[in-house]
Amino acid sequence: SQEISAQFQDLDIIGRGSFGLIRKVLHKPTGRIFVRKEISYKSMSRKEEKQLSSEFEILQNLNHTNIVEVYGFEKIPNNKMLNIYMEYCDGGDISELIKRYRENKQYIPETLIWQIFTQTLLALYRCHYGTNIEPVTSMFKSTPEIKPPSISDFQVVIHRDIKPENIFLLSDKYTVKLGDFGLAKALSPHTHFTQTYVGTPYYMPPEVILEQAYNTLCDVWSLGCVMYELCALTPPFTAKTHAQLQEKIKIGTYPDLPSHYSNRLRMCISACLITEPTERADVNQLLQETSFKIYRREWE
Ligand code: ADP
Ligand code: MG
Repeated sequence: SQEISAQFQDLDIIGRGSFGLIRKVLHKPTGRIFVRKEISYKSMSRKEEKQLSSEFEILQNLNHTNIVEVYGFEKIPNNKMLNIYMEYCDGGDISELIKRYRENKQYIPETLIWQIFTQTLLALYRCHYGTNIEPVTSMFKSTPEIKPPSISDFQVVIHRDIKPENIFLLSDKYTVKLGDFGLAKALSPHTHFTQTYVGTPYYMPPEVILEQAYNTLCDVWSLGCVMYELCALTPPFTAKTHAQLQEKIKIGTYPDLPSHYSNRLRMCISACLITEPTERADVNQLLQETSFKIYRREWE
């Protein structure tokens, strides 16, 4: 209702997305800062309108330390606006981090890359397997018991737009928050694949280019592209034209990472960037076999 927006004072616009504006807002009763995603549904079909309210519904069900938290949703028929209220991530998004390092001609420290890798994997574990493993805060104390995934009991969520612009940071301790579920798809407990896809070309997996049915592993491919970009400061697949880019992705070869990064990191990224989805690592394997161990060693 319109009562929600009355509680907020508009502050700066911090992002301009595909559908509308992202604005910082002040919650007057508490003095806390939030973010409001403002989407106009003036020129939208019913179906698009539904997809947008689904962003809120999906987020509301995905309670996780590493997924951006939502607080409210309102529809204002007067000016045909949909507003989503979310937590404000004051560290910006990962694309800004990459840009900062590129401009300073420096590489991102490997410990920070692991930190982002692991926390994004934890967020994706929540999406793909519908269950939380240990909260992030206790990772420092012990090796978490990773429950065997039991996909069939849960609603599976595929994010479908994993890219640097959609992974946010808190400035405090580099807490990572996966955001922008605007293209996310919640699958029924019985269908774990889907066909339509509208993600960003650089991060688009080969099975999508080949117009095959795809599943949660498409997020793993895109995550591999993001992790590569954090290391190399450029995406693994680049080209002048869309058609050339698609060819490169289908072939799946990419330049070596800068040599100072560890073989472990190289292996994890290459396990994500396997063109054949059935051979690609899944989030569970990535968490179990590699990142936790390294993450702990680096930070203990
Ligand atoms: P779109 O669907 O339009 O891409 P996003 O949710 O990705 O919308 O938001 C666009 C940009 O706004 C993001 O890339 C990010 O820089 C910024 N942004 C979005 N949500 C937040 C947030 N909760 N906290 C901080 N910045 C945000
Ligand atoms: Mg976005």
